[in-house]
Amino acid sequence: RAKEQGRNNYQFYTAAMNSHASELLMLENELHQALERGEFVVYYQPQINTNTGKIAQMEALLRWQHPEFGLVSPAKFIPLAEENGLIIPIGEWVLRTACTQIKAWQDAGLPPLSVAVNLSARQFQQPNLVEIVARVLQETGLENHFLELEITESVAMQNVDFSRAILQELHNMGVSISMDDFGTGYSSLSYLKKFPLDKLKIDQSFVRELATDPNDGAIIAAIAALGKVLNLTMVAEGVETEEQRDFLRSLECEYMQGYLFSKPLSPQDATELLQNYRSSPNPVIISSSYCS
Ligand code: C2E
Ligand code: MG
Ligand code: MG
Ligand code: MG
Repeated sequence: RAKEQGRNNYQFYTAAMNSHASELLMLENELHQALERGEFVVYYQPQINTNTGKIAQMEALLRWQHPEFGLVSPAKFIPLAEENGLIIPIGEWVLRTACTQIKAWQDAGLPPLSVAVNLSARQFQQPNLVEIVARVLQETGLENHFLELEITESVAMQNVDFSRAILQELHNMGVSISMDDFGTGYSSLSYLKKFPLDKLKIDQSFVRELATDPNDGAIIAAIAALGKVLNLTMVAEGVETEEQRDFLRSLECEYMQGYLFSKPLSPQDATELLQNYRSSPNPVIISSSYCS
């Protein structure tokens, strides 16, 4: 009955909605084969310690290189993969690929870096997440403390007791835990204290309007103060200008990620960056506009 009604409702779709819906349908179809066709690539975006000017970490960011559609944004296909469950195999592939890459860089004698991997809601809620993470670390040979997992507030807050237990298990293994897009979700400060967190990533929406909206500066200052009290590493996302960088430094937010320093890089470009970095005696200049 409900199905019948649902079908009838299609009549009310506008042409635009229809083409959007069929685009999504097409993407979804293609998504089923993307993994086996080898269309996914993990990009790496450096996270900078602005006190030393050095790269502290790389964030693994998934890219889908479709032969016809070109590069499809994760903002578009991750929600689809989340809905149809493909995020589970895709997510494990990202984790394995990122750990393998970081280990390969270490084995090549490049400065040891950790890697941050994003987890969506469904990945976080899969019953054997901890075993999968343990197995991937074991199989790739990456030491556990070189892995960080990023979750968002809304994911963590969905089932607080469950989240705390899982995060604690991962934390006990030596894996770091980072709260992504901080300030945009439903954050309860008392729960924040209960989660075994290592890091807060200030959402880029606050950084973006730093120069124009004084409220954003106040919000970032408040988040930074909170991070200090809870003894968390603070990272600002989406840092694009020197002005933003300097303001963030004045708030003692020392770790940053953004186009000012580097865009997410293909594995080849990231490797090249790290090789140049090794041969330079001084803290690396990642973008020409960067100086510490
Ligand atoms: P996120 O984890 O918050 O990642 C940060 C996003 O900001 C990335 O977008 C990155 O390319 C972008 N970014 C970095 N610096 C700047 C900047 O200076 N300016 C601007 N405007 N943007 C910047 P991206 O790669 O498109 O990823 C979007 C989101 O998709 C990610 O947000 C994350 O939630 C999700 N995602 C990406 N890869 C994965 C993955 O492997 N697994 C899961 N579950 N989610 C992923
Ligand atoms: Mg992230
Ligand atoms: Mg983020
Ligand atoms: Mg995000």
